[in-house]
Amino acid sequence: MSRPIVATIDTSALRHNLAVARQAAPRSRLWSVVKANAYGHGLARVWQSLSATDGFALLGLEEAILLRESGWNKPILLLEGFFHADELPILDRYRLTTSVHSNWQIQALAKAKLSAPLDIYLKMNSGMNRLGFQPAQVHQAWQKLKTLANVGEITLMAHFAEAESSAGIAEPMARIEQAAEGLSCPRSLANSAATLWHSETHFDWVRPGIILYGASPSGDWQDVASSGLRPAMTLNCEVIGIQSLKAGDGVGYGARYRVTGEQRIGVVACGYADGYPRHAPTGTPVWVDGIRTQVVGAVSMDMITVDLTPCPQSGIGSSVEMWGQNIKIDEVAKAAGTVGYELMCALAPRVPVKVI
Ligand SMILES: *Cc1c(COP(=O)(O)O)cnc(C)c1O
Repeated sequence: MSRPIVATIDTSALRHNLAVARQAAPRSRLWSVVKANAYGHGLARVWQSLSATDGFALLGLEEAILLRESGWNKPILLLEGFFHADELPILDRYRLTTSVHSNWQIQALAKAKLSAPLDIYLKMNSGMNRLGFQPAQVHQAWQKLKTLANVGEITLMAHFAEAESSAGIAEPMARIEQAAEGLSCPRSLANSAATLWHSETHFDWVRPGIILYGASPSGDWQDVASSGLRPAMTLNCEVIGIQSLKAGDGVGYGARYRVTGEQRIGVVACGYADGYPRHAPTGTPVWVDGIRTQVVGAVSMDMITVDLTPCPQSGIGSSVEMWGQNIKIDEVAKAAGTVGYELMCALAPRVPVKVI
């Protein structure tokens, strides 16, 4: 080992979180969402820990092919569908379920030469206004898909913009009901927040992502603290330097923190080039030698400075947790004005990963 930083991926936490998601939606089948390289955890590393799932949902063909070639032969869903018609032979070859959100995709399906029909997720726009057919267009799209020999089972799919708020479900659900009237097809609507907090959205397939990795869909750990979720990723490093400073001394770039009395500052081997958020301000929690303390001063590329006042026993080589078991990734994200999703996805390739 050279530089003392490592991300640990806890496969038992992944297995456990999948079970928590299943308990929350016991009558539904479950897509484990593993887009963005399993939210930064490494798809190749973690998919087997989630293999009790009913299917994997992701975006990239490369990731889908990786799963097939690693031996996964149950469903795979392309959440954004195919991007160009010439991908359809690959979907055919690897038997991928695809979302369909635009008329051009229906036309491409009509023209393609496939060995067998593909299952389709007909994506409707329930108010997020990103991808999908407007409610009034869903019937026509469904009817058209029904006539195509290349189309197998059709599932109605929607995605919530505000499922973490209690009021965020009613309007989209009304649009979904309007679109689904008279259609007899399975439905898949629920992300993590809806899986945990809105059982009326569960239907046939739920699609949790963030909760599998043990973070909160609302960005606030308190909201999931009682759910039993366990953080799957822990980012550890060590103290590599100590400065004993006196009142008025500045710390780090721009002297963004100034010491007000005698203070011991620890220099920690983790920076924004490792994926730690550069916007994390003084006060962001960090765990040193088993004690909660705080980041002080600017986050630099390869180092962070921390207050060692609460940890007088600490010194060079003391262990530091940036996020994980003790400091929830949601706490760090919140302090930095972002969400746990972004931090886990942004874990830098240079950080060595240990799988336990
Ligand atoms: C990312 C994504 C999900 C999972 O969202 P989480 O908030 O991580 O649970 C579900 N459905 C779609 C369409 C997505 O893009």
